[in-house]
Parts: sequence; structure tokens; C-alpha cells
Amino acid sequence: MSMADRENGYGTMNRPRALLTALLVIIISTTFGFSPCMANDVSTEDQPSQRLVFRGSPQGIELTSVELVPSRRGPAAAADSGSLEITVIDKASGRALLRRPLADPFLVHADTVVEGSLAGGPARLEGDQHFSVVIPAVGPGQRIEISRAGHQSRLLTVIDGREIELRQSQTRDSHDATAGGPAETVYFTGDPANRLDILVLGDGYTDSEMGLFADHVDNLVNGLLGSEPFNRFASFVNIHKLEVPSSQSGTDQPDQVPPVYVDTAFNSSFNYAGVPQLLYAQTSLVLEAAAAVPEYDTIILVVNTSRYGGGAGAYAVCAGGSASAVQLMLHEFGHSFGGLTDEYQSPYDTYTGPEPSAPNCTSMGWFDMAAQQLKWHHWLGIEGVGINEGCEYYAHGKFRPAHNCLMRSLDSGFDPVCREIMALGIFDYAGPVDSREPLEQLVTLDTDTQSFLVLTAADGVDVQWYLDGTPLAGSHGTQYLLQTDTVTPGEHLLEAVVTIHDSWLLADPDGRLTERVSWTVVRESALQSFQVTLLVQEEVSTGEQLWTQLAIANVSGARQSFQASLDLIRCDGSRVNGFRRGSGSIQPGDERRINLPIRIPAQMPEQLLECPMGLELMVVDGTASGDVYSAAGSFTILAD
Ligand SMILES: [Zn+2]
Repeated sequence: MSMADRENGYGTMNRPRALLTALLVIIISTTFGFSPCMANDVSTEDQPSQRLVFRGSPQGIELTSVELVPSRRGPAAAADSGSLEITVIDKASGRALLRRPLADPFLVHADTVVEGSLAGGPARLEGDQHFSVVIPAVGPGQRIEISRAGHQSRLLTVIDGREIELRQSQTRDSHDATAGGPAETVYFTGDPANRLDILVLGDGYTDSEMGLFADHVDNLVNGLLGSEPFNRFASFVNIHKLEVPSSQSGTDQPDQVPPVYVDTAFNSSFNYAGVPQLLYAQTSLVLEAAAAVPEYDTIILVVNTSRYGGGAGAYAVCAGGSASAVQLMLHEFGHSFGGLTDEYQSPYDTYTGPEPSAPNCTSMGWFDMAAQQLKWHHWLGIEGVGINEGCEYYAHGKFRPAHNCLMRSLDSGFDPVCREIMALGIFDYAGPVDSREPLEQLVTLDTDTQSFLVLTAADGVDVQWYLDGTPLAGSHGTQYLLQTDTVTPGEHLLEAVVTIHDSWLLADPDGRLTERVSWTVVRESALQSFQVTLLVQEEVSTGEQLWTQLAIANVSGARQSFQASLDLIRCDGSRVNGFRRGSGSIQPGDERRINLPIRIPAQMPEQLLECPMGLELMVVDGTASGDVYSAAGSFTILAD
């Protein structure tokens, strides 16, 4: 392989001239090897995710399957006190790498209608329940813990990363054999990696009733996308439909005389947990079928019945043939997706307990909420939002944001507070930036004007551009045209801070609505001092030496001094700046070639093996403008 072939990257990548030898004096620190404290960092971006499925009761939880899925975002908010939480922990350091809230798998929301008004409350499920979570893939160097969050904090289970790895290989094998029919994407707006992906499943539809299933799904999809807040943020949503035929039509109705029992794919039933209008299904069957659509984030199950009913737990359920199907679905989706509680006030009288955990219900008064800046304090006094007595099954002592809301009555839409919570839920899975142009991080300016662009699914975003940390006045569009002659030779940082502003989104507590994009921009000097090259051995085993060669040629007419710095870019994206440094000077026409062996430690963190590691050489000349010349290379560390 020639030197030219091995050049990889960007910057001043001119051919080396005749190979003049002058062994070199880059003075470099002699402590070779990788910094162990940085080696354990885990990036949660752009790496595959795992969907973990658990089975358990409040007495014990076990892992039942692990599936590798495309990179997913996930909920940013912390778990409410009393609900479940999963934590990923680095075993070596004991550090928590990630926390995610989990919906309580042992509760299901049941809404019944009494004299035309919603009434009811959550039902506690008996026996083992299944639930799932998607997190960045866990490796053998990590473990997960599932606990109850907040003041009743309690550790429920610990699962080692090695067990997760083992489960994943087993799941993949078994899944290949049982994968369901292909899903149909009924509403598509973009790459699932940056979208909320809703999966609609159906129960009680036989093979010959798939047309009816399609009609029911159309009705729900149109209803969802036509309702606030989904109508405004539909461009961040994909919807998929999966046909899973049932042997028999309909659903179980054990409370009818005579009782009705039918054989259906997900074993759905009215009178679930003994509540007449609670329509729910067997979660293990639902999760198993959904695994055929790895990119899904949340599930809606539509049941082939016209009898009024629904429910919400790990997923939302509604009666597809009911005249209220859309409103039922939205209400249940408010529970399962938004974590909202019911705002109706039957059946109890006066509440005297602690502050409720749900985001749309409080025991605080207006002034306490405003003073402590909790719950919907930022909405108080806006669009009719205040403190309204009667919420979450109590007529007194609990308060709701607005006079009416879909979580109180099906004849209403979401109030501004619930609408904001649902919308922020979408942005748990979809960020403001879809992509960027150029895609590369390092851009060499070789034309008079260079265009930089951020691509977004939002109707309108606010973009602030920065050059070397200074805001660029008047630059608020998604495109910025950089005039090369307005920057000095050398390296610059161009950034775009992209924010979704919307009158429905008054708060962004977890920073979901803002994303930062950056490029390193290099303007070459008109008068070049150096040509630099970097050659790197392509593969090296642990415990061996990596062969690298740096070459710096003085192509100017005068003696030039230089400062060289070699950065290491590890495959998780993190960078060790100044991994090696050196300086010196070179006569005109001479070239310095430095053979720089790097010893690879015998023990390496698994995530740094078998993936591309980068080296980037930056050479700054001694001229007044300090022009920068760069070259890059890459290598892979093989497990021994
Ligand atoms: Zn409800």
C-alpha cells in the first residue's frame, strides 16, 4: 500500500516530496498508553440500543429477552417519586451512566363512565407482568439496576451486563424463527432514529377482517394527527401498523350474560382486573409481536369491538369500533405515553396525602406552586390555566390545571399543560436537528464561500450561529454562508444552536428542544509553510505496538519552526487532545519523519476494541498567523 493510499482525511494533505531523512526531534511525552479514566466514558449517541423485556412482580423481576434495535433516544425526564427507574452503572467506577423512568408495570388505568362522566382509578394487576425499556446497548462492563424512585426508594433487581449479552444472543436466535408479518408504515416523516415511532397493533381481527382493522387504524391515525399537540408536531412522528390475525373475531367479555370468550392474538378482555370497562390485553403477547418492529417507541392496541372501553399501562388500549374510539385512544395515550393522570374527581371526597407524583395534578395552591416553581407554574394565569379543585379521583384537596381537559372528560381536548407534556414526550424521541451539511466535522475552506446547513423537521426553528464562540449577528436561518476571506488562516469553530420555539411549549426542563451542531473550519494560508502526512498501521492487537509515522515537509523558502500535536479520537467519539506533543524547526526543502510507536495496553475496555480509532496530526507554523496543517489516520485494535 502506498503512502498516498494510506492518507486518510482532510487538511493540508499534499504528497510528501522526496523522502529526505532527518530524524527528528519531536519532543514528546514518554507516558504512552490510554488514559484509563477516559476509557470508561460511554457515549449515548449514535450507538445501537437494546430493548430489554422483563417479567416480574413487586417481589421480584427477571430479564426475559434482549433485542438489539436501531439507535433510539429515550425519555429525558427523571422518574417520579414512587415509580420505577432503570439505572445503567459502570462496574469499574460504580458511576451511574444513565437513568430512565419506567411506567409502573403493576398498575393499569381504568376509566369507566358513570352517568355520562368518567370515573374510576388505577387497578393493581395481580400476578407476573411484562414490561420493556429501550436503553443504549449495555456491555459486559456494565450492570443495570431497577429500583423504585424517590422517597420510598428500593432496589428491585440487579442484572449483570454479561447476562444481558447472553440473553441478547438467545433472543436473536429465537426471534428469527417467530418474527411476525412485516409492518406497514402508514405515516412516515423521517428516519426513526429522530422520530417518535408509534406502533398500532390490533386484537380480535381475523384474517378476513384486516380491511376493518385498516379502517379502525385510519380512524385513529387521523384522529391522533388531527388533535393537539400532534397536529402541530406531526412532522416528528412516524406511525406503523402490524397485522397480527386472531383466530376468532372480537374480545373476551366475561361480564356479559352469558359470558363471551374468544380466541384472539393478544388475549384482550373487558372486565380486566375486575373493572367492567377496563379493556386490556396480555402484555407478554403484545411485546412479543411488537418485536417484529424494532424501531417502535410506544404502542397503541386497538381491539375489534364496538363496546365502549379502554385502558392504559405499558401501552394504550381502545375499542376500535366504539364511536368514542379516537377520544378513548387519546385519553389512554395520555396515560401510557404522557404519564398523565386522570383529572376527574370521583369517587373520593377529600385528599390529605403528600403531593401527587403526576405532572398534571397537585395538592399545592397557586402561590406555593409559583414560589417553588413546580409542576405547571409557568402556565399559571396563561390560557385559562390556574388551580382548579378536583383531580385524580378526589373532589377536594387535589387540583388540576384547567377547567377541563381530555384527562377529565372525553368531550375536551388536552388542556395547555397536558398538551405541553404530550408534546415534550414527542421530543423525548425526536430532536430539532435531523442532519447537517456538510456531514463531516472538519471542513477545509477551499472555495470563496462555504455553505453550512442544519436540516430540521420543524416548521420553524430559531438558529443562532457562532464563530469561535461569538454570536454572528443577524444569522438566524438554517443556512449560513461563510465567506472564506472573513476568517483568518488557521482553525475556527463554527456552531449552530438550533431551538424549537412554540407557543405551546413554554418550558424545556430537560433541554429537549435545543440542539447544538458544530464544525471545525480550517482556512489554509495562501503561503504554505508545511506539508504534513500521517501514516498509521491499520490493525494492531492489544499488548502490541502500533506503528505510526509522521512527516512534516518544509515547502516554504525559509526555515520554519513548528509545534505539532497528535490527538487521539476514540471510537466512542471522545477525543484526547494533545495525546502527543512536540516542536522544532525545519530547514527549507527538508522533511522531518518521525516513527512513533504507540504501545497498546494488554487490557483494553471492550468498547474500544474492533472499532475505528482516529489519530489527527495538527502542525502550527511559527508565522504570525500561526497557520495550521493537519492530517489524519485511523486504526483498529483487535482483541488478542
Ligand atoms: Zn384515564
